[in-house]
Amino acid sequence: MIVVMKPKASLEEINKIKAKIISLGCEIHESNGANYSLLGLVGDTSRIDAHLLQANDSVEKVIIVQEPYKKANRLFHPENSEIIVGDRSIGGKKLSIMAGPCSVETEEQIMTIAKDVQASGATFLRGGAFKPRTSPYSFQGLEKHGLELLKMAKKETGLPIVTEIMSTSHIDDFVEDVDVIQVGARNMQNFDLLKALGKTNKPILLKRGLSSTIEELLMSAEYIMAGGNENVILCERGIRTFEKYTRNTLDLSAIPAIKKLSHLPVIVDPSHAAGLWWMVEPLAKAAVAVGADGLIVEVHNDPANAWCDGNQSITPERFNNLMKKLSVIAEVEDREI
Ligand code: PEP
Ligand code: MN
Repeated sequence: MIVVMKPKASLEEINKIKAKIISLGCEIHESNGANYSLLGLVGDTSRIDAHLLQANDSVEKVIIVQEPYKKANRLFHPENSEIIVGDRSIGGKKLSIMAGPCSVETEEQIMTIAKDVQASGATFLRGGAFKPRTSPYSFQGLEKHGLELLKMAKKETGLPIVTEIMSTSHIDDFVEDVDVIQVGARNMQNFDLLKALGKTNKPILLKRGLSSTIEELLMSAEYIMAGGNENVILCERGIRTFEKYTRNTLDLSAIPAIKKLSHLPVIVDPSHAAGLWWMVEPLAKAAVAVGADGLIVEVHNDPANAWCDGNQSITPERFNNLMKKLSVIAEVEDREI
């Protein structure tokens, strides 16, 4: 339920309505713009009578929200949300370009790639330290040492770090060392992890599950936001379909759909969607053209010898070339690189 206050409602009148709602056991998610003031009701609204609220002179209207997600709902927050990460923002005019290897391998590897992607205009460094691998016999990541190497690369380049968390037991380390905490596709519905991240105030990059609907993705975002952390960035990374040619099927329609349903920023991962390095460029261009707020792209200096996902990694040279093309498409969309 959303209570839309009249533009001329005084602070006193707004507070009176808020007190009434709170006394009936609901939480309030407030959103104020230049000409509006919205009170989004979260929790059990069964004791709230919309008609009685509407009877107040200061209330413009009461909207019943059908969707199960509330805080992530655009109705609760009509303007796009911008997530602030240090001196950068995700969801503003400037696109957020996160680039780097699938996994951190060695100091030399991460340093080389970080410097290269920064020189090409990337705004964040990605790199996995704790890796969710299908096989237990595959490389599982350098773990804590990987986080240390990412920190070194950040110190050298100034690029904030995006890296994946796999377990609640690592939250303290991630809160300390990481700028944007990634929740991978396989953990999108790890509700304990989402709840724990909801208690932090770190930006969370939430990737869409392998076979998850848009509504399920938004409900997972709601888990984090319900805990008090509203710094959520959504990521479309391809979903499983009957098509086997690509690793996943990039659901480009999810971007305008999510933009309509939610105020949260959406970025696209063309690398895990395609699974093929030569398809990264066309999909990245398409993502910017349909309104994505940024990209997360796997870049490796030696894809043929990468420890993980070499087949879908582009070289720093190709990344540099891609950035130039993206800047043209960004301009058409009134965005910038
Ligand atoms: C990754 O970003 O390295 C990753 C494992 O992605 P996803 O969770 O989308 O498969
Ligand atoms: Mn990968």
